[in-house]
Amino acid sequence: MGGRRIALVTGASQGIGAAIAIALARDGFDLWLNYKSNHDAAAEVKKKIEHAASQCRLLPFDVADPQAVQSVLSPLLENETPDVLVNNAGIARDTLLVWMRPQEWQEVLAVSLNGFFQVTKAVVNGMLRKRAGRIINIVSTSGQSGMPGQVNYAAAKAGLIGATKALAAEVAKRSILVNAVSPGFIETEMTKNLPKDRILPLIPLQRLGTPEEVAAVVSFLCSERASYITGQVISVNGGAYM
Ligand code: NAP
Repeated sequence: MGGRRIALVTGASQGIGAAIAIALARDGFDLWLNYKSNHDAAAEVKKKIEHAASQCRLLPFDVADPQAVQSVLSPLLENETPDVLVNNAGIARDTLLVWMRPQEWQEVLAVSLNGFFQVTKAVVNGMLRKRAGRIINIVSTSGQSGMPGQVNYAAAKAGLIGATKALAAEVAKRSILVNAVSPGFIETEMTKNLPKDRILPLIPLQRLGTPEEVAAVVSFLCSERASYITGQVISVNGGAYM
């Protein structure tokens, strides 16, 4: 017992994942920082984590690739189990269903849903043994309300909401809490080309959110203060979906 707590955050070289990793470092977690390919950006996030006096292990792998997940995580999990897992890696391939190619459907589901399955399955065994753990899945307003042009993305995120609730029910008796955080429109690469004039009227707070505003909720859900919350979807969307 004792020692520093570890948080594994997927898709954390930029955007919401990076903000979550930095917030958890400030909360006193050491980080296992996953991302797919942007080594320079990940190195910058690592610096910020170390600036917060936490350690950071960079773990580049594709969450959609079962072999890659296994080969990176298995050796680490033999010695340590993260206290927190944040399944944040996600991609969008927006287009109307009539134009959607099978690959655009499959890629989006592969990252959000298969990624969740592969990484969570690897980590949850150790959490079950320790009888402790927090799992946070980053979903989206799109998976709750549906958004045109996002049939693939909405299906992936709605699926992840279902998985969150089912897993929460499965592991509650071992004191593992599983929740989803559902961002609305947040200022990141993913939203930088969206037409702001058409989006702002949909948001009662009349602005996009920041990655830090999403990270604050994840930080809370990973804290002692959130000890009686499980199976929930917590929205951070400026009122865009109520
Ligand atoms: P982003 O800026 O596009 O960053 C995506 C991150 O995920 C990057 O670090 C990227 O790594 C990583 N990634 C992508 N595919 C991956 C894979 N196959 N395996 C491992 N890592 C992978 O995205 P974001 O806007 O921060 O979104 C983060 C999460 O929030 C996603 O799940 C997204 O669906 C959700 N979300 C975002 C918004 C929004 O408005 N931005 C709203 C609702 C929900 P590399 O760059 O290194 O490849």
